[in-house]
Amino acid sequence: MSRDTTRTKSTGRLEEDSLIDLTQHEIQALRTRFNLADAHTHQRQSASQDRIVLSLPDLWHEAEEGLQVTYEERFVDAFFRLHKQPTARSMKKTMLSYAASISTMVVGMFLKQQRMAVTLLEPCFDNLHDVLINMGVPLYPVNESALYDPDRIYAELKRQVRTEVLFLVEPNNPTGFSLLKFGRKGLEEVVRFCKDHNKLLVIDFCFASFTLFDPAVERFDVYELLESSGVSYMAIEDTGKTWPVQDAKAAMLTVSDDIHSSVYDLHTSVLLNVSPFVLNMLTQYIEDSIEDELFSVREVLRVNHELIRRTLEGSILEYQKPDVNVSVAWFKVNHPELSASDLHRDLTEQGLYLLPGRYFFWSQPSRGESYLRMALARDPQMFSEALEQLSTSLKRYA
Ligand SMILES: *Cc1c(COP(=O)(O)O)cnc(C)c1O
Repeated sequence: MSRDTTRTKSTGRLEEDSLIDLTQHEIQALRTRFNLADAHTHQRQSASQDRIVLSLPDLWHEAEEGLQVTYEERFVDAFFRLHKQPTARSMKKTMLSYAASISTMVVGMFLKQQRMAVTLLEPCFDNLHDVLINMGVPLYPVNESALYDPDRIYAELKRQVRTEVLFLVEPNNPTGFSLLKFGRKGLEEVVRFCKDHNKLLVIDFCFASFTLFDPAVERFDVYELLESSGVSYMAIEDTGKTWPVQDAKAAMLTVSDDIHSSVYDLHTSVLLNVSPFVLNMLTQYIEDSIEDELFSVREVLRVNHELIRRTLEGSILEYQKPDVNVSVAWFKVNHPELSASDLHRDLTEQGLYLLPGRYFFWSQPSRGESYLRMALARDPQMFSEALEQLSTSLKRYA
């Protein structure tokens, strides 16, 4: 991704108003004491994850010796075993890439090649919008609320989706909304609509690990539903937001048979393979999470969600309860005069970096003016210091 960083170099620090996207905010946040901006994983290792770190030289040498395909197969097999996706696991047609954004770019290349326009969920992480727009794919919004009532999903989509493609994020970043809270019915209705109206369904599952082992939702065999329905689909999966692996991540793209060969040809124009060392290492993290039922990942988020509820209760930051404990929290700024952008500016000056909500409302930024997003994949000690500081700062507006 090409981003103009020359301004950073000449002025030292960018003026906040000149930041054109969330990533530029996140880059600023990386220089800030309390970085609660990017949803990347910054927490420390659990005890068993530490043992994986200690075995890295062995994993490196092992990956040097074996065949690429061995590490690919082991990785995909472990990933879909953790996610309880036997159909995806047995199909063996998943394509690997270095990052979810690369998989999304391949999706974008395909949509551009087919001259398809997209209806994309709103609010959502702006990177999806930006990648598609920068690849020349026309975009239209559908509000998340179209999916809030399973009995109305079909009719709402029929009314609102005018393009050849529907693009969803499950569960959603930033809101933590999940169709899976309706059991099979939510996704079934989406698929039924797409099948009946000949729409290509694209689903970004980058946050899907947060739905695992959560009593409120069940990640049933989603790929069985997709495959047996006969719908055309593209599904993106990811590891980057789940394990604390310093961005040594891998992503996956699985598509329906009718478009597989076209997408495969685009995929191979982008890359040959993901590092076998990274795959070998990630496989260890996945096996560890199968063992502890994702406890190390979920526990950090549970503790930090809980801390938010306790610390910010009654403050002007109103926690929007998510369907599942995703790795971000979404807040409404409850104040008659103060916009989220004003508050964001004040907090930034005090060394606390959250993300302003307007960017998530990519078609109509003003609708995000009262929202802020906070990242939770952080060491709970640092996170509790950040919240203490936040709580003190917020008292000024009470
Ligand atoms: C972070 C994220 C991505 C992009 O992942 P990268 O690792 O930055 O490429 C895509 N979709 C969602 C929902 C995300 O949260």
